[in-house]
Amino acid sequence: MDCLFCKIIAGEIPSKKVYEDEYCYAFEDIAPVAPVHILFVPKKHIAGACEIDADNSALVGKVFEAIAKVAKQKGLESGWRVVTNNGEDAGQTVAHLHFHLLGGRPLGIMCDK
Ligand code: AMP
Ligand code: ZN
Repeated sequence: MDCLFCKIIAGEIPSKKVYEDEYCYAFEDIAPVAPVHILFVPKKHIAGACEIDADNSALVGKVFEAIAKVAKQKGLESGWRVVTNNGEDAGQTVAHLHFHLLGGRPLGIMCDK
C-alpha cells in the first residue's frame, strides 16, 4: 500500500521515534507547530477518524493510552492538546489515522465551537 505512515511504521522511511508498542507508533512531526509535536499512529492502517468503528475502536483507545503516557513522560503537566484532522475541509494530508499531540506552550483557543 502506498501509505507514508505505513512506510514509516515499517521503517522504510526514517522517523524520529518517540514511543512504540504492539498497537501504535509515535514519532516527531517533521514540521512542528509546538515545542512538543508528536504524531501517534495505529500500526494497523485505518484511513482516518471516519473509519473508526466497533471493530477498531479498542485500538484507538490503546493509542490514547499511549498519548497520555507520553504526555506525562514529556512533562506536559500544564496542558496539552490532541488533534485529528479528518478529510479535506479539516486539512488531512496523510490518509492514515493519526493524532497530533501538541504541548510545551500555551496553545490558545482553536475555534469558538
Ligand atoms: P495532517 O495534516 O493532519 O494529515 O497531518 C500530517 C502531518 O504529518 C503533518 O503535520 C506533517 O508535518 C507530518 N508529516 C508529513 N510527512 C512526515 C514525515 N516524513 N515525518 C514526520 N511527519 C511528517
Ligand atoms: Zn497506512
